[in-house]
Amino acid sequence: MSTSYNLSSIAEIIDGKLAGKSSEVITTLLIDSRKIILPEGVLFFAIEGEQHNGHKYITQLVERGFKNFIVREEQDLPNNCSQIIVQNTQQAFQNLAKHHREKFSYPVLAITGSNGKTIVKEWLFQLLQIDKNVVRSPKSYNSQVGVPLSIWKMNESHELAIIEAGISRSGEMEKLQQVIQPTDVLITNLHEAHDENFESRQQKANEKTKLVENAQRVFYCKDYKEIDLALTSFSGDKLCWSRHDRSAELFIESTQKNSKGTQVQAIYKEKKIDLLIPFQDSASVENGIHCWLYLLENGYANSVIQERISHLSSVSMRLELKAGSNNNTLINDTYNSDVASLGIALDLLNQQHQHRNKILILSDILESGLHLESLYKEVAKLIDSKGVKNVIGVGEDLFSHQELFEKLDCKFYESTAELLNELPSLNIKNSSVLIKGARKFKFEKISQALEQKTHETVLEINLSAIQNNLNYYRTKLKRDTKLMVMVKAFSYGSGSYEIANLLQFNNVDYLGVAYTDEGIELRKAGITLPIMVMNPEKDSFSAMIKYSLEPEIYSIELLQNFTEKLQSSLASEGESYPIHIKLDTGMHRLGFEEQDMSELLSELKTNKWIRVQSVFSHLAGSGNEAFDDFTKTQADLFEKAAADIENMVGYQFDRHILNSGGIERFPEYQYNLVRLGIGLHGLGTTPEAQKKLQTAAILKSTISQIRKVKKGQTVGYNRSGIAERDIEIATVSIGYADGYSRRLGNGVGQMELNGKLVSIVGDVCMDMCMLDVTDVKCSVGDSVIVFGSDKIPLTAIASQMGTIPYEVLTGISQRVKRVYFQE
Ligand SMILES: *Cc1c(COP(=O)(O)O)cnc(C)c1O
Repeated sequence: MSTSYNLSSIAEIIDGKLAGKSSEVITTLLIDSRKIILPEGVLFFAIEGEQHNGHKYITQLVERGFKNFIVREEQDLPNNCSQIIVQNTQQAFQNLAKHHREKFSYPVLAITGSNGKTIVKEWLFQLLQIDKNVVRSPKSYNSQVGVPLSIWKMNESHELAIIEAGISRSGEMEKLQQVIQPTDVLITNLHEAHDENFESRQQKANEKTKLVENAQRVFYCKDYKEIDLALTSFSGDKLCWSRHDRSAELFIESTQKNSKGTQVQAIYKEKKIDLLIPFQDSASVENGIHCWLYLLENGYANSVIQERISHLSSVSMRLELKAGSNNNTLINDTYNSDVASLGIALDLLNQQHQHRNKILILSDILESGLHLESLYKEVAKLIDSKGVKNVIGVGEDLFSHQELFEKLDCKFYESTAELLNELPSLNIKNSSVLIKGARKFKFEKISQALEQKTHETVLEINLSAIQNNLNYYRTKLKRDTKLMVMVKAFSYGSGSYEIANLLQFNNVDYLGVAYTDEGIELRKAGITLPIMVMNPEKDSFSAMIKYSLEPEIYSIELLQNFTEKLQSSLASEGESYPIHIKLDTGMHRLGFEEQDMSELLSELKTNKWIRVQSVFSHLAGSGNEAFDDFTKTQADLFEKAAADIENMVGYQFDRHILNSGGIERFPEYQYNLVRLGIGLHGLGTTPEAQKKLQTAAILKSTISQIRKVKKGQTVGYNRSGIAERDIEIATVSIGYADGYSRRLGNGVGQMELNGKLVSIVGDVCMDMCMLDVTDVKCSVGDSVIVFGSDKIPLTAIASQMGTIPYEVLTGISQRVKRVYFQE
């Protein structure tokens, strides 16, 4: 039985029409055109979604050397390219995966549920790979396109596949079931995630359990009544655990936390058994019991299970990005070690444009199953395909397989200690460095050695949340509406190129900054997107032109000054320079008013040095219903003035008036461009938006010292914090110089410490403040959340400070270190 495919066999499988011919063996399926991979053996599926159309990227892909495409509409392609035309590309993608799945007869375990899918999958993998060759979904690839990609990884050498399946609305699970065709299903739990897309919790349970159709066994916790009920008619083996129902296969009698984790007592096959799960939180205990039940039912002795479970490590899907010393950017992935997650981390490395030089520090990959030779061949090929040339390898396996990495510029060390010794002499600087190692290599030591030492307050930026928020606003746009993202003021305090790299990777159309300097910084960091500058100062015109930054023009004087600069800088009139004309329709800040229009029009008529790239205005109250009539007046004025300008110049340009609140509330004023700002950071104006958005920034600090203060004594400057009783005070390293306002002193502000809210005592100092921790267990070094959690959202601290979230975010000083992570 062969598992290799070429285009004609694929055309037959997916019932498509092949145009062009290629006998090239297809090894890799691609749906995300942004992925950096070598074109050889790649088949691109032009998937169409609500907001997305893969056909748009085919030309770019052809330029990059890709040759094989699955399309819905026949494309005009060069002779050396081939395409298969199908009715529905996503369906074809799933059909191909389904066909691939059917070639294998080993067990396939599918995992679904509201939470914990990825962790249970990773844990089962950790537990079972000791004696089995297991293939699993990479990361949380569990969607309509993630599942087929996971299935595609199956091959003859495997003995078990573990595939994650996630759905967000009705109708999706049936399709996933057909692709996965699981022999076993594990359902983790049922919580509120995506409730809004289902009629009821029960309907959601019914939908999820469609995955069990044709499966032989299902594993679940009977205490989720809706799941149990949804499985009533399931005819295979129902294997469940419960804390209440003694008839369950695994009856949990008690759970008790201790210093090593959680001790679980249970009854299985009429015998008392127990297990120490090395975690204390209830979610981990639930996940652990799922794994326990699965292993018991697959014939593992309890002693073996105990031994393996004691080595379970927490699953971190988190990739961290931060500034290093010597002008390096560090990407930390010091917990995972497998080929799929290496690919994902290399993608993030590749998004970094700020340094030309990219370095990978990699440990041995501790994944059983593959022969070392083929494993490291694959690794070398992957690294090469991502265009990374500098590799530092650590570990005996890599050391003894050096010859496989000949094409790359490599150094090898047998141990982490050896590399740490040599690190200073390697003189790593001005580079983006990916540090990726299996846990046992303790690569955190390497990242500590390369890190910038700064004070202990950090603003953590969740890049996955930003991605989510960007996707949300895109769903609000019509297909041909373009998107400008405002990254002024250090992207609302969140970062410059760190955020811009993500936006460029996501193909947004424009960036907007306040000052020329901000634009130059982005250009120097390799950002090539068009950039609009809102306050183009006269002194900066030359730099602006040199770095291809496009000015907002808000007065005749500015237009004339800029034109003069163009006349002396550009070679000829033919090279007209893009400008953005700002109209004042009611904000009364910057812009041409109605009475300036005739002068503007006559200037535009004769000025051959500039090209009107866009005409725009800004709403004064887009988020507030009370101003909706005013907003409409602004839009009317804008439309009229823009039409006058178009009549005068005789060509079309972009029109835009909406900011984040406007995008949410006035889709009718999208024209063909919108300007997204605060929404990217997770702050919506409507409840509907707020529900879909995720908090991007979390500000954290740490406790430096704890002391007791007797009743009647005072805390801090001006003796304003008077102890009303004997209290315990923790000093935290954040003060007003970091952007933590003095207004939050004396009980106004709160921070979150070990899950509880604690109040500020006394005045906030310049670099520190004091917390009343009398009622909370804590120790020196503990982390406190200043804002960004559910308990203290940004909006709450903003109102305590008497201001708006914008000011809080942009007021966090530059000395506060920014750390980025991707989940
Ligand atoms: C800052 C800014 C925006 C973005 O506003 P948000 O309310 O943050 O969405 C849009 N347009 C202009 C001109 C801006 O200055």
